[in-house]
Amino acid sequence: MATVLDRRVRHPEKAHKADTPLLRKPDWIRVKAPGSAVYAETQKIVRENGLVTVCEEAGCPNIGECWSKKHATFMIMGDTCTRACAFCNVKTGLPEALVGDEPEKVADAIKRMGLSHAVITSVDRDDLDDGGAAHFARVIRATRAAMPSTTIEVLTPDFLKKDGALEQVVEARPDVFNHNLETVPALYLKIRPGARYFHSLRLLQRVKELDPLMFTKSGIMVGLGETREQVMQVMDDMRSANIDFITIGQYLQPTRKHAAIDRFVTPDEFKAYETVAYSKGFLMVAASPLTRSSHHAGDDFARLRQARIQHSGH
Ligand code: SF4
Repeated sequence: MATVLDRRVRHPEKAHKADTPLLRKPDWIRVKAPGSAVYAETQKIVRENGLVTVCEEAGCPNIGECWSKKHATFMIMGDTCTRACAFCNVKTGLPEALVGDEPEKVADAIKRMGLSHAVITSVDRDDLDDGGAAHFARVIRATRAAMPSTTIEVLTPDFLKKDGALEQVVEARPDVFNHNLETVPALYLKIRPGARYFHSLRLLQRVKELDPLMFTKSGIMVGLGETREQVMQVMDDMRSANIDFITIGQYLQPTRKHAAIDRFVTPDEFKAYETVAYSKGFLMVAASPLTRSSHHAGDDFARLRQARIQHSGH
């Protein structure tokens, strides 16, 4: 188990912040404990291929459930991020050079797991000229070559100030392009200081302009101090950018060094967000305390595809 000292080494940039006590989780936040045989098998494939997963790095509460179904989300381009967002458990620092055969290793792991839908994300690589876009594209192509029937979902960084980066990823033709807005614009300075709300929104709008058939997806965390009206505004902004799928989940404070939870949003409030989001025209909505971008992503993709067919009338 990590000690407080470990965490200071892991998050040197956050060590100056005052400890904020962790709130006790309500009854509706219940997760499956890791430890099944399938969980162990997933872990083995991840380790043998020398891969990093966001499941582990972000301390995702769903890891017991997902890994027991052989579903993991690969985090490419290392375990060190160039940003220091106040909500995120991934360590910050100067990342190492890209691993040349990582695309093949990711593709091999996806094949060994037999994934019908693969989710690939990454750390932010502001240190690279293209933000890692070409590497993302290589991973998509290697996965496509190894598993032609597997659908691919990417969850990318914002590629801020990286001209031409987004285009490279879209050209590799993932099935779903996901980029999370994470929170309402009023909280960006506190929660996501290195990012710009309008830029992230525009990134997703641009994906649709480049390829109108590509599904776009974005998510926010709630419980950080946002108001209901601010969440509604984000939904409207997302629809203006033609985003197909919104995810809304409860923010959980990874350690005492991270942003404190303002409150736990109740399951009924999530249900109300879901209803409103559908009324605003999203093709798919996932809103619950444990919703995460990649949680049930395969099943959700099948529903998303079905919803498009129904909406288009054929
Ligand atoms: S929800 Fe996503 S990040 Fe969390 S364990 Fe499942 S696949 Fe991994």
